[in-house]
Amino acid sequence: MAKLKIALDGPAGSGKSTAAKRVAALLEYAYLDTGAMYRAAALAVLRAGVPLTDSTSAEMVVARSRIELRWTSEGTRVWLDGEEVTAEIRRPEAAQAASRVSTIPGVRAILVARQREFAAAGGVVMEGRDIGTVVLPDADLKIFLTASADVRARRRADELAARGETVNFDEMKREVVARDQRDTGRAASPLAAAPDAVIVDTTAMEAEEVARLIVLLARETERAAEAC
Ligand code: C5P
Repeated sequence: MAKLKIALDGPAGSGKSTAAKRVAALLEYAYLDTGAMYRAAALAVLRAGVPLTDSTSAEMVVARSRIELRWTSEGTRVWLDGEEVTAEIRRPEAAQAASRVSTIPGVRAILVARQREFAAAGGVVMEGRDIGTVVLPDADLKIFLTASADVRARRRADELAARGETVNFDEMKREVVARDQRDTGRAASPLAAAPDAVIVDTTAMEAEEVARLIVLLARETERAAEAC
């Protein structure tokens, strides 16, 4: 069977991570959470005491930082310069910092190069904001997930609550909307659907349904690739 490159993009809480992990497991593909890379890069910048507005220094810090991602049965585990930061990067402050650091073109260039290397052999599901448009414009299948802001904030709040954090829904919604605005409004690789992406509104869908739909599309794409 052909080993596809699958790009999965969308805003925070659109259901990307759950779908991407499930699809990767069902297809026995590798999985890369590029958001985790931006979160770890932001943490590196914060730890270096560099203001997130200082693009040149931030880029230097990210170029020197060692970000490792390992996909385990409990999800993606992340290390920054040898120290595990899996829990720390999931905090709302890390999400906001990631969305600021990710506006710096030099930072993006460093991480995009690492992401393309990961996908080189195919057989990969990669999730993010710019995978179908910038990282893998040649992806065999591009999916763009959307959902209402309320549902997305609720999903994020539930995720954090499941990790034992106290969350306020209104605050979560403000956080999600602010991040959306920064991600869609930035000049460097803004969050956008590729013209050839399949757009799926997940507002009223269960995660499993979303995953099964993507697997169906992937199987069709695999068959079409084989027939060529
Ligand atoms: O997906 P996640 O919510 O973990 O991403 C955190 C932030 O990283 C996003 O809000 C976005 O600003 C940035 N990001 C990005 N490009 C990607 C993945 C994430 O700019 N491919």
